[in-house]
Amino acid sequence: MKAISVLGSTGSIGTQTLELACEFPDRFRVVALTAGNNLDLLLEQILRHAPEAVALADGDMVPQLRERLEALDPARQPARLPELLGGPEGLCAAAAWPSADLVVTGIVGCAGLLPTLAAIRAGKDLALANKETLIAAGPVVLPELAKSGSRLLPADSEHSAIFQCLQGTPWADTARLSTGVPTPGLRRIQLTASGGAFRDWEPADLAKATVADATSHPNWSMGRKITVDSASLMNKGLEVIEAHYLFGLEYDAIEIVIHPQSIIHSMVELADTSVLAQLGWPDMKLPILYCLSWPGRLPTPWRRLDLTEVGSLTFRKPDPAKYPCMELAYAAGRAGGTMPAALNAANEQAVALFLEERIHFLDIPHLIEQVCDRHRADRMDSPSLEDVLDVDGWARRATREAAAALQARLPATLPA
Ligand code: NAD
Ligand code: MG
Repeated sequence: MKAISVLGSTGSIGTQTLELACEFPDRFRVVALTAGNNLDLLLEQILRHAPEAVALADGDMVPQLRERLEALDPARQPARLPELLGGPEGLCAAAAWPSADLVVTGIVGCAGLLPTLAAIRAGKDLALANKETLIAAGPVVLPELAKSGSRLLPADSEHSAIFQCLQGTPWADTARLSTGVPTPGLRRIQLTASGGAFRDWEPADLAKATVADATSHPNWSMGRKITVDSASLMNKGLEVIEAHYLFGLEYDAIEIVIHPQSIIHSMVELADTSVLAQLGWPDMKLPILYCLSWPGRLPTPWRRLDLTEVGSLTFRKPDPAKYPCMELAYAAGRAGGTMPAALNAANEQAVALFLEERIHFLDIPHLIEQVCDRHRADRMDSPSLEDVLDVDGWARRATREAAAALQARLPATLPA
């Protein structure tokens, strides 16, 4: 029985992980949960899974959760109330919860960094969904992994596909995961991208894109931030940096290919030109389950892939002019050091402003580019954790300032 902790349990990744715990009750038991502010769902999860610890991002909400648990009909109360924790220290304590074997990181954004590091320092294996943490803090996270011996198993579907393709190659020596050491025999990675919400839009129409347009993904059902990242292709750009840190390949050897059907989840090319791919319906439960069951596999009753039903699989190169975020991410990845942290924070802040309808969709790359340009002179090669957190905070402020300047220049084009 594997004991798992789920960070961000009320989100898209978190709820799907808990569905897996329900589907395999004799394989997985849930020992810790963390969440933002969805107390209704969190309460249901506590009743269902009876975790030992629960942490809320906002410590001030803990008394409310305690009251709601204590007010429950005694017949519905869990046999033992979980230890209730709150605030940044509470999230870290839940992430490092002693009885856990594996921690699923489903927090969105760089907010996941400190809990992820707490889990690594406690020697836990991780199922990494929270890619922003690795992207912002790769130079900090990789040495911590090497020190603690924690294994970073990729839950992102593309990186899971690559990980699955590499089983059985010399790379399968798992000590190599996330060491930043080039993978023997691995020549190229091809990350597949659905193309997101604007896949079939003309570039000229993107100026009219609304929040509703950008948050309706054609193939995957995910949280709002990553859905906007998919529409801008920043998600794929972030995944290029994620692949660089996970598999140790240089940026020239990591390519993006648009594959509208999202059936091939990514491909690897080996030294002899052989290409391996992993296929499946677009459903995050499969890559999450592989993290939970690795190195084994569990039988599931899920719908089996039928390629005759799919008909055809198509591929095309992404248009850099339509998707400027993609090139910004490659440039930040190549610059390395703290530049990906600046890119990631600027993107998180710009996407938040877009979701609040304070900037336009096309302002997102514009703001990120300005912030990365400003950071160039201050970029650090081997940052400490504090340096990464400072750059993250600075880049968020710089993005808000750049957005305010934009607003001042173009008042008529922005909603009040
Ligand atoms: P989501 O918005 O659905 O859920 C985010 C979770 O994090 C929620 O439980 C929320 O309460 C919690 N949270 C939000 N802000 C927080 C904060 N400041 N502190 C602590 N907790 C906070 O997001 P998601 O789509 O599940 O994505 C989670 C992560 O997984 C992201 O990094 C995303 O890039 C990655 N990912 C998601 C998918 C997917 O299918 N959803 C696929 C691949 C990777
Ligand atoms: Mg992905």
